[in-house]
Amino acid sequence: MRIGFIGLGIMGRPMARNLLKAGYTLKVYTHKRETVEELVREGAQPGTSGADVAADSDVVILMLPNSPNVKDAVLGENGVLDGAKKGMILVDMSSINPIVSREICARMEEKGCDMLDAPVSGGEPKAIDGTLAIMAGGKREVFERVREILEVMGSSVTWCGEIGAGNTTKLANQIIVAANIAAVSEALVLGKKAGVRPEVIYQAIRGGLAGSTVMDAKAPMMMDGDFRPGFRINLHIKDLNNALETGHSVGAPLPLTAEIMEMMQWLNAAGYAAEDHSSLVKYYEFLSGTDVRRQ
Ligand code: NAD
Repeated sequence: MRIGFIGLGIMGRPMARNLLKAGYTLKVYTHKRETVEELVREGAQPGTSGADVAADSDVVILMLPNSPNVKDAVLGENGVLDGAKKGMILVDMSSINPIVSREICARMEEKGCDMLDAPVSGGEPKAIDGTLAIMAGGKREVFERVREILEVMGSSVTWCGEIGAGNTTKLANQIIVAANIAAVSEALVLGKKAGVRPEVIYQAIRGGLAGSTVMDAKAPMMMDGDFRPGFRINLHIKDLNNALETGHSVGAPLPLTAEIMEMMQWLNAAGYAAEDHSSLVKYYEFLSGTDVRRQ
C-alpha cells in the first residue's frame, strides 16, 4: 500500500519515520522544505503539494495543527481533494473539531474516497516509540482496512464510531488532561503555602486514588521548572476551544473546561503560549505569590 504523509512537525515526523521503518512506500509533504528533505534522506519520496501526494497514494495521512490547516491541505488549491483518485482513504490524525471532520468527509465521499478521523494521545515520546493511543472515527470496514498502518504508529488503536467520533473522544481526553493538570497545580501550591513540600505531597499520594499518568508526567516538570514542550499551551487552547464549540453545538455545557480555558488565556497573555501545558502551575504561583520548585 502506498502511503502519503502530510504535516511533519513534532508528531508527524516520528510517525512517518516509523512507517518508513516498517517498510511502507511513503511520499511526504509539509510546509517546511528542509523537513521533507530530511525524510527523503531516510527513504521517503518528496511531495510538492497535497494533490501531488494524493495522486500517488492509496492512503493519505495528515498530522496538522488544527481545523483550518486540515481544510487548507485537503480542500485548498492543490490540496488532497484535487489529486485524490476514487477509492483513496484519507486518515486525518490531527486533533481538530469533529464538526469539521464530518464536513471534509462529505467532500471526500463526493469524490468516491473514504475518510477516518484518527487523532492520537501520547505526545512526542510515544510517537517516537510507536506506542500512541489512536482513537478513530469513520466506517468500520474502512478502519479495518488501515488498522495495520495505524498499529505501526500506536500500541492502542480503538474504533470509536462514525466519522467525528475520533475527535470527540480526543476532546474528552483533552478535558480530562487539562483538569488534571489544573488540580495538580492547585494542590501543590496549597501544600507549599501550608508548609508541606510539594515533592512530599507528590510522593505520598501518587500511589493512591489521586495518582494519575498526568500527575506522574507533569508534577516533576512543575517541581523542576522544566516547561519545555511536550504539548504546548497554545495547542491545548486550540483543543479546549474545539471542545467548547462542540459542547455548545450539541447542548453539553462544559463549565470546568471554560474555567481552565481562561487560565490558559492568562498564560497566553503572559507570554507562555509556547511552553508545555504543565506551566499552568504558573497561574497558581502568580495568584499565591509562591512557586513549587524543588529547593
Ligand atoms: P506541529 O506544529 O509541530 O506540526 C504541524 C506541521 O504541519 C508543521 O510542520 C507545519 O509546517 C505543517 N503544516 C501546517 N499546515 C500545513 C499545510 N496546510 N500543509 C502542509 N503542512 C502544513 O504540531 P504537532 O505537535 O506535530 O501536532 C500535530 C497535531 O497533533 C495537532 O493537532 C496536535 O494537537 C496533535 N497532538 C500533538 C501532541 C504533542 O504532544 N505535540 C500530542 C497529541 C496530539
